[in-house]
Amino acid sequence: MKTLENKVVLITGGSRGIGKATAKLCLAEGAKVMLVARGEEKLKATAKELNSANLEYCTADVSKAEDVQKYTKTTLSKFKGIDIFFNNAGIEGSVKPIKDYPNTEFDSVIDINLKGVWLGCKYVIPKMNDGGSVIITSSVAGLKGFSGLGAYVASKHAVVGIMRVAAIEFADRNIRVNTLHPGPVNTRMMRSIEESISPGHAEDVKKGFEEDILFKRYAEPEEIAQSVLFLASNASKYITGTMHIIDGGMAVG
Ligand code: NAD
Repeated sequence: MKTLENKVVLITGGSRGIGKATAKLCLAEGAKVMLVARGEEKLKATAKELNSANLEYCTADVSKAEDVQKYTKTTLSKFKGIDIFFNNAGIEGSVKPIKDYPNTEFDSVIDINLKGVWLGCKYVIPKMNDGGSVIITSSVAGLKGFSGLGAYVASKHAVVGIMRVAAIEFADRNIRVNTLHPGPVNTRMMRSIEESISPGHAEDVKKGFEEDILFKRYAEPEEIAQSVLFLASNASKYITGTMHIIDGGMAVG
């Protein structure tokens, strides 16, 4: 029997990066998967690449309540139930000191990274099957500060608060809620952050980040997916309200 046989997994930010790697692993472990992201073209291409009869997708902007209700409803109608909710979509925003950070940009980061997670918890969890698991993607930026990433760091700290309250409020239905705290991962997001820190010198910035990681390298999205699988599976059935750090030893020193 596969780890997620017949389980329904809903993944926001599923068109690429960590979400896509997680979708692939969940499908291999027998799950039915709903991918949510903003762009239809990218979602379509990802669905084609993953090529599974157990995969569906739905376009939605996680920062809009009506879109969150739409992707919840679509998942329930396609699969009849939700067991695992990977509340994962996020953006990095600009890299600028607080004094120069554009207010509109702050609003976008908070709308997607914080309100998007909040709305997901509000509309999805009540519809989940008892005994389900919710995994919210925070970051090492939810454990410590990074210069220039004020809005991102604030949003990733704040989702820990949502996780703690949701863990308390849904425990009577045996629904577990935990946050995931990856360090730098080899996805588009890190390329964008590196380029913003020092335009034209992304490789040097990457080397600097790697120096701060005990294992001296970024994670691959597939390694993060393994942690999601653990938190989604029965192997973690007594774990709720916790912060799961997967950073190659970045936050330790
Ligand atoms: P990515 O940019 O490769 O993917 C982000 C996904 O989120 C995409 O599918 C995108 O379409 C989706 N998305 C963005 N805004 C959305 C919106 N408003 N509505 C719906 N979907 C939206 O990034 P990634 O590296 O895979 O990041 C996934 C999560 O992991 C994010 O929350 C990110 O903050 C977090 N994270 C990433 C890293 C890293 O180093 N890459 C480290 C720690 C945490």
